[in-house]
Amino acid sequence: MNKHRYDLGCDVLINGAGLVGSTCALALAQNGLDVLILDQSPSDPPIQPEPVRVSALNIASQNILTALSVWNSLSAEIKTPFEKIEVWDATGRGHLKFEAASIGIEQLGHIVSNPGICATLHQAINEHPNTSIIWADAITECVTSENKITVLTENGRTINSQLLVGSDGAKSKIRKLANIEHEANSYQQVAIVASVTTSKPHGSCARQRFLETGPLAFLPISNNQCSIVWSSDLEEANRLLMLSDTAFSEALAAAFNYELGSIESVSLRRSFPLARQHAKRYIGDRIALIGDAAHTVHPLAGLGANQGISDAAALSQIINARHSENRDFSTRSVLRRYERWRSSENAFLLDTIDSLQKCFGIQNPVVSRARSAGLNLTDRSDILKRNLMHHAIGFGGQTPLLAQK
Ligand SMILES: Cc1cc2nc3c(=O)[nH]c(=O)nc-3n(C[C@H](O)[C@H](O)[C@H](O)COP(=O)(O)OP(=O)(O)OC[C@H]3O[C@@H](n4cnc5c(N)ncnc54)[C@H](O)[C@@H]3O)c2cc1C
Repeated sequence: MNKHRYDLGCDVLINGAGLVGSTCALALAQNGLDVLILDQSPSDPPIQPEPVRVSALNIASQNILTALSVWNSLSAEIKTPFEKIEVWDATGRGHLKFEAASIGIEQLGHIVSNPGICATLHQAINEHPNTSIIWADAITECVTSENKITVLTENGRTINSQLLVGSDGAKSKIRKLANIEHEANSYQQVAIVASVTTSKPHGSCARQRFLETGPLAFLPISNNQCSIVWSSDLEEANRLLMLSDTAFSEALAAAFNYELGSIESVSLRRSFPLARQHAKRYIGDRIALIGDAAHTVHPLAGLGANQGISDAAALSQIINARHSENRDFSTRSVLRRYERWRSSENAFLLDTIDSLQKCFGIQNPVVSRARSAGLNLTDRSDILKRNLMHHAIGFGGQTPLLAQK
């Protein structure tokens, strides 16, 4: 594709240049498809003050991004490996620890800066001959005909494409335009995110303590800092957000039982309301949804972005196979394969995380004892732990080919 003549149309139009949409663009472009991405944000978004949003990416996501020649371009400040995961129940004595070495691998995953990885993906897209991004424009309408989908944009563009992919996040415009219903349930919790320096080193371990009010995670990042994700009910979150930095640091260290010592510095705090969402369908006429446009989940298992990256890899795998045979890749039956594959796997993960979130939210002492016993039993069972680790690193279900090395 001549990168400046997108008005003539493209094979695939992707709405949303976030982590998931950008991954999808590169995975499709690698197979020779002409891909155009559109994003409503300005190309150079204002630099966000600290804290930097991060995601724990698993080995499957790492493999996908490596296959797209993106992973190795991420600098050490953008990705921090973790070798261990530790989980505790604050109301009991339950404790569970996973170690990469126990399954013969070096890391269980990396904590990756969201703006850092997006910037690297956008650079790869800009350098690729088959794909480009239009910033600061938004789709207002789309019309499907027999052999194409046509979109109109706020800035007066008309773009024809074979397929429209909605990767435009939890409030997806494409989901709305395609009249795709979705279940949406608030967890009645808010996640507070901040970057902190602790007096003890994190030791490349991702830690999470389940408190009565919700889970508190310390994720290792560069310069021996941690990114914290403190999920709690609305009242408690409001209280924590109103505290001075000193009072918040003390409350944070205490809530984590001084596991990493005291908090020596804390960035600005940002908060995110948490909701479970699941689209009832992932596809429409020449339309497919991926990432947060299709599903959102509680961050306690660090899965949302990983699920989205796997959606992108699965959709591109199905489309690329069809395109290689010179056949229409956006028919209902082709898109149905993607929907069947990803919708069932995501539903399973959403339900599992919901159960965990509910189970750790119960404050009954009998349940607390049972929970602790469950964690400790799991910790002592090598087979169970291996199985859980297999899921955590992203190989629990049908793994996309790009994730298999
Ligand atoms: C506190 C917190 C912690 C998390 N931690 C983890 C973790 O550790 N690991 C993990 O895997 N996941 C984690 N997640 C989930 C993860 O952040 C998301 O699943 C992931 O960022 C979704 O990526 P996306 O590209 O689908 O959507 P988004 O990142 O929302 O990107 C959507 C893109 O679409 C654009 N857009 C939106 N609307 C329009 C429109 N109408 N027109 C054009 N463009 C549009 C936006 O500008 C944006 O660029 C966490 C989430 C939260 C809230």
